[in-house]
Amino acid sequence: MRRTRIIATLGPATDTPERLGALMDAGVNVFRLNMSHAKHDWVRRVVADIRGLARARQVFPGILMDLQGPSIRTGDVPAPVALRVGERFHFMVHGAPPPAGELGTTVNYEGLVSDVRAGDTLVVDNGGRKMRVGGVTSAGVACEVLTEGSLGSRRHINLPGVRVSLPALTDKDRSDVALGLEVGVDFIALSFVRDPSDIALLRNCLKDRARPPLVVAKIEHQFAVDHFEAIARESDVIMVARGDLGIECPYEELPIIQRRIVKACARMGRPVIVATHMLESMIQSPLPTRAEITDVANAVFEQADAIMLSGETTVGRHPLACVEVMDRIARRIERSGGANYHVEAELTQPRQKLVKSAVLLADELHSAALVTFTWSGQLPRFAAALRPRTASIHAFCDSEALAAQLSMLRGVTATVLPSCTDDPEGSIEGAVQRLKARGAVKSGDSVVVLVPHGNTQDRQVDSIKMHVA
Ligand code: PGA
Ligand code: MN
Repeated sequence: MRRTRIIATLGPATDTPERLGALMDAGVNVFRLNMSHAKHDWVRRVVADIRGLARARQVFPGILMDLQGPSIRTGDVPAPVALRVGERFHFMVHGAPPPAGELGTTVNYEGLVSDVRAGDTLVVDNGGRKMRVGGVTSAGVACEVLTEGSLGSRRHINLPGVRVSLPALTDKDRSDVALGLEVGVDFIALSFVRDPSDIALLRNCLKDRARPPLVVAKIEHQFAVDHFEAIARESDVIMVARGDLGIECPYEELPIIQRRIVKACARMGRPVIVATHMLESMIQSPLPTRAEITDVANAVFEQADAIMLSGETTVGRHPLACVEVMDRIARRIERSGGANYHVEAELTQPRQKLVKSAVLLADELHSAALVTFTWSGQLPRFAAALRPRTASIHAFCDSEALAAQLSMLRGVTATVLPSCTDDPEGSIEGAVQRLKARGAVKSGDSVVVLVPHGNTQDRQVDSIKMHVA
C-alpha cells in the first residue's frame, strides 16, 4: 500500500486512452488538466476517457482543473524564437507586431505597460530567461535579453514583487470554470491566489452545485505566503506550487516556505500537495537524479498528501517511469517514518476527537483497517489528517463523485457501496466482505469502524465499533 497520492498532469505525452489507462494502472490518483494550455474540446474528450477507463477498473481517480488565474502569458509563436544576450525583444500588449526587423511576441495582459518601468527585470519561462526592461510605450515593453535560449508559445512571465492588476478570476478562468462544472471535475485550482477573497470569488461560481468541486489554492506568490492562514481557512486543499514560488520568492526560502506550509496544513487539517520539478530531469532521462529522489523523499517524509508531476507527464519522454519512481520512493520512505507534524493538529470539533480515538485504536491494533462510511467526506478527511501510523483508511460512500474527491487524501482508499450511507450499521458486513475480496484484510484481522449517524436522523450520534473480519 502507498499512502502518498500521485498527481499526473496530462498533455500530448499521456492523453491517449491507452496511456491514461496505463497511468491509472501504475497508481495515479489524480489527473490534472492545466488550463494554461488545454483547449475545451480536449478537456471534454480527456475527462470522458478518464471516467470510462476508471469505471471499467472500479477505481475513482480525481480530476483537477488548474485555472491559469492572473498569470501573464506570452502569445503563440509559430516556432520557438532564438534569443541572444544583448538582443532587443518586445512584449506587445495590443496584438501589434514588434517594430520592423526586431523580435517580439504578444502578451495577454495590457496592464504590463503600467506595471513595469525601465530597469525592472522580467522573468520568462519558469525562470529560464531574464530580460531587463529598456523602454515602455503604450504598445509594449522593449527588453534587453539577459539570458540566452529560446522562447516558445504561452510562456509565463513573472514580475517578482509586483502586484499584477489582473483580476483573480479572468474571463478565461470563468469560461474554464463553466467547462469544469459542465464536465464535472472534482477539484478546481486557482493560480496566483493573493488573498482569501480570491478563493471566495471562485467559490461563488460553484455554489449552486449539490457537490461542488473542491477548491485548491495554489501558493505561488509572496502575497499568498504572507496571507497563508487566511487563504487556507477558505480553501479545501493547498498546493505548494514551487515553480512560480521559486521565482517570486528568493529561492533559498523555498524549502522553508514548503515546510512551513506543510506544517500549517497539518495543524489546520488541510490536504496539501507538493508540486513542480519533482522529477524534472526525467522529461528527458529515464532515471531521476539523486537530488530529485531526495526531494520526493522529503515531501513524503513531510507527509504531504500528494506529490505532483507536471512537464514530466505532459511532454516528457518517460511519463510512466516517473509514476513508478514516485511510487517506489513513496512506499519506501513511508515505511521509514515521517515528520508527524499532525501532533499539533487543531481538533476543534468533538467529531475530530472521536476520529482521533478511532485512529489511535486502529494503530494500537497494528495494521488494522479503519473503515468509515461517509456522505460528506468529513470522517475520512479527519482520519487522514491524523496520519495513522499503521492503519489504512477505507472510506465507503455511495457516490462516485465523492469517491473521486477523496482521491487527494493521504492513505485513503475510497469504495462505492450503493446506499451504504443510508444504513451504515447494516453495511459493515458488506464493507468487510469487499475488503477481504480485495485482500486488504484477512479473516481474523481487526477492523475499526467509524459509524456516522444515519442520513435521515437529525441527531448526530457517531460511534466506533470494533469488528473481527
Ligand atoms: P503551474 O503551477 O504549473 O500552473 O505554473 C505550478 C507551479 O507554479 O509550481
Ligand atoms: Mn504556477
